[in-house]
Amino acid sequence: MTTTRPALTIDRLIDELKTLAAISEAEPPVVTRVVYSKADLRARAYVKGLCDAAGLSVCEDAIGNTFARWQGSEPDLAPIGTGSHIDAIPNAGLYDGCVGVLGGLEAIRVLQQLGYKPRRSIALVIFTAEEPTRFGIGCLGSRMMANVLTPEQARSLRDKEGRELEELRVAAGFKGPLESVALPEGRFHQFIELHIEQGPLLEQEGIDLGLVTHIAAPASMRIILEGEGGHAGGRLMPGRKDALTAAAELILALEKAARSTGAIDTVGTVGVCDVFPGAVNSIPSRVRLETDVRDIDGARRDRVLDSLRAACDEVASRRGVAITTELVNADPPATCDRAILEALEKSAVAADKTFKKMVSRAYHDSLFMARIAPVAMLFVPCRGGVSHRPDEYASPEWICAGVHVLSRTLAELAS
Ligand SMILES: [Zn+2]
Repeated sequence: MTTTRPALTIDRLIDELKTLAAISEAEPPVVTRVVYSKADLRARAYVKGLCDAAGLSVCEDAIGNTFARWQGSEPDLAPIGTGSHIDAIPNAGLYDGCVGVLGGLEAIRVLQQLGYKPRRSIALVIFTAEEPTRFGIGCLGSRMMANVLTPEQARSLRDKEGRELEELRVAAGFKGPLESVALPEGRFHQFIELHIEQGPLLEQEGIDLGLVTHIAAPASMRIILEGEGGHAGGRLMPGRKDALTAAAELILALEKAARSTGAIDTVGTVGVCDVFPGAVNSIPSRVRLETDVRDIDGARRDRVLDSLRAACDEVASRRGVAITTELVNADPPATCDRAILEALEKSAVAADKTFKKMVSRAYHDSLFMARIAPVAMLFVPCRGGVSHRPDEYASPEWICAGVHVLSRTLAELAS
């Protein structure tokens, strides 16, 4: 690019973010936009209208993933993708996901206004249901695109009211076989997702941008302990099979295992501990633990899970408590692509923006896109690290810096 000052119209972008936020199932400023709800469909229509107005050709797949394409001069080449999601959990704010969608669109419009002509097409992607609110599984659209969730598995999904995904997506207007959603490796040449950090580091350190080198992925394991209940006074200590004291050992075993890797990126959490019968004068007979282990290194994360399983066996035999484990999910972490990161770095330097390399500890659609294309993520700060709340906030200047660097990078990669 020859010009150093893209015609970035931040006011237009902020207006569009606010208009999109007002399309909500909740009273503004609260954003609630659950997949396939009326608000979700209206929001999609709004964004597709903006894409049309920008001269992009829009198409959708059978699950509602939306592709808005700016045709390059060599349309047979695989496109450069950018984008994110516009669904929002109940009681959310207006930046999560939407900055990547409307910011991606703005980056494209800036390049159009500058008279730039891409060689590769640039495709804006709006992923269906990044949030797990409705079907209990995150990144539905990108997961299916990468065929990590098969059509067969997708057909078994239901929402809390028992309505099938199949019925709901057709009612929302997305037809065609689910088999057509998965994309082969190479369909996208490269993919970049712009997103708010959802953590406090960039703001605290006064840095404009985060260049994401790794996306951590969670594994969650459910542990059920079955001991023997009884009267808290009547049953003496010898021979007790208290499910909760056994669970306490496992909670500490997970903490120890996560610390023992010596890596700052390994984290282990027990977020749920359900005790039955849950009465003050009754020995706990049954406990359910839900655990979450994350790392940027999949093998290291899995070793923590192995230690936890070993602790389960040891505690079960020593205490005479039956313990079963179930791996609920274990998505592999992603490593971002070096060539895209270099292009982002070059663009940030050219745009005179400060940046740091960082890890994304939350996961995003890019985690699944990484299965079928080289990916990277670009973070902008968000105030106090607050996200998934109505008071989520990213300043126009922060967003502007992200869009500026994204547009330069898209131009470089599509040339
Ligand atoms: Zn998001």
